[in-house]
Amino acid sequence: MHEWALAEAIINAATEIAEKEGIIEVTQVEIRVGELQQVERDILKFALAQLRTPRLKKAKFKIETEKAKLKCRACGHAWTFSKDKLDQNASEAIHFVPEMAHAYIMCPKCGSPDFEILEGRGITMQTVKGVKRS
Ligand SMILES: [Zn+2]
Repeated sequence: MHEWALAEAIINAATEIAEKEGIIEVTQVEIRVGELQQVERDILKFALAQLRTPRLKKAKFKIETEKAKLKCRACGHAWTFSKDKLDQNASEAIHFVPEMAHAYIMCPKCGSPDFEILEGRGITMQTVKGVKRS
């Protein structure tokens, strides 16, 4: 159900941006989803298609993945993390509980599990394109 709430928020945000920029017909909405954000893309896409408003009737929703960027609190080293490097179980645990990341990921430089997540969580609206009012 979480995806439906997200889809609604995305539709609302896209509508707001379209209104502000004078877009009468939205053709493309670009969204970035953090790698550590728990989202079922298929459900999200389905929900977006169901909830779209008339202004977004022709809109294509492009969903991109934002790589996770982490920073070690012990030594200050920052690195890009890829979920592909984890084994299945760890990857699933993090998918459902992003905080679990700390149990599976360590700083590649000093080995500390104490890090902060700079990027890769949450959802950001990238661009809203469309036909503007003339
Ligand atoms: Zn470190």
